[in-house]
Amino acid sequence: MLIRDILKTRSGGISFEFFPPKSEAGKDAFMGVVKELRQFDPIYVSVTYGAGGTTQERTLTTLEWLRNETDLTVMSHLTCIGATQKAMDELMRKYISMGVNNILALRGDPPKGVPDFDPFKGEFRYASDLVRFIRRYDSFTIAVAVYPEGHQESPSLEMDMEYTKRKIDEGADFAITQMFFDNRYFYQFMERAERIGIKIPIIPGIMPIGDIRKITEFASFCKATIPEWIRKRIEPFQNEPEEMKRIGIEIAIEQCMDLQENGVRFFHFYTLNRAEMLSSILRGLNFPLPLF
Ligand code: FAD
Repeated sequence: MLIRDILKTRSGGISFEFFPPKSEAGKDAFMGVVKELRQFDPIYVSVTYGAGGTTQERTLTTLEWLRNETDLTVMSHLTCIGATQKAMDELMRKYISMGVNNILALRGDPPKGVPDFDPFKGEFRYASDLVRFIRRYDSFTIAVAVYPEGHQESPSLEMDMEYTKRKIDEGADFAITQMFFDNRYFYQFMERAERIGIKIPIIPGIMPIGDIRKITEFASFCKATIPEWIRKRIEPFQNEPEEMKRIGIEIAIEQCMDLQENGVRFFHFYTLNRAEMLSSILRGLNFPLPLF
């Protein structure tokens, strides 16, 4: 199903982001997580795509499992850095034949561990080029990534918003944000987006903090600030994983409740392929809500 149609008919909902398991051996555990989270009635689930196409086969296999073994609406992430138009065209046809008709169009980053990778060899420079390319097929809902604190390479928040607007104007149907831990960044982003005339749905990306060290590493790479009050609350429990998760659950519930109080109705959760913590968060938020 096209997510853009679902977004028009639903008054709210949640979605889950997964990454492809490393091998076929991880399939049972992965599908177990998906089935556990299925009870929360996601409007769609998405599967990430390795930088420079490094996990293309695994992403496609994971999408196939989800298509064949669940009734979930699926979305493929897709990065274009280093790709050729010919390869992208083949992939679009493959998606159509698989019944995957929702794509999160991304530029991506140069893949780690591929020293001779040349980003300029590809025929797509920015995500906006990919959005324009996919739009030609007239078959897909297209989502894009947006950055409440600005993308790490953007020279300023104003330029970041300018490029975001251009990318959306190429034909994006909705956007998902990078993780953020202080809702003020999201509210300020929404104000900037409104001022510049962005009208598509923007869904906040929520990253539960299960392990502060890992999240700090990831957050520093993608320029997401972890506020001091969160550090003070979690860091004393660095060596007590269960307690750290309990506080991470509380923080995510508080974050989503504040967003709900400020009118947010759709949430995209970064699952890290784990169900337990997220299930507690969603139960704490009374999902699935009957009105969805
Ligand atoms: P773009 O929109 O192309 O922006 C990249 C940079 O270029 C920005 O700084 C932007 O301001 C600048 N820019 C844009 N247009 C112009 C222009 N015309 N002139 C000059 N500068 C310009 N990565 C993966 O590898 N796989 C995934 O599955 C994946 N999933 C993600 C999901 C979400 C929800 C998010 C938020 C990110 C995800 N990423 C993923 C990370 C993403 O690939 C990186 O953040 C990447 O660095 C930027 O991708 P983008 O699509 O936002 O790029």
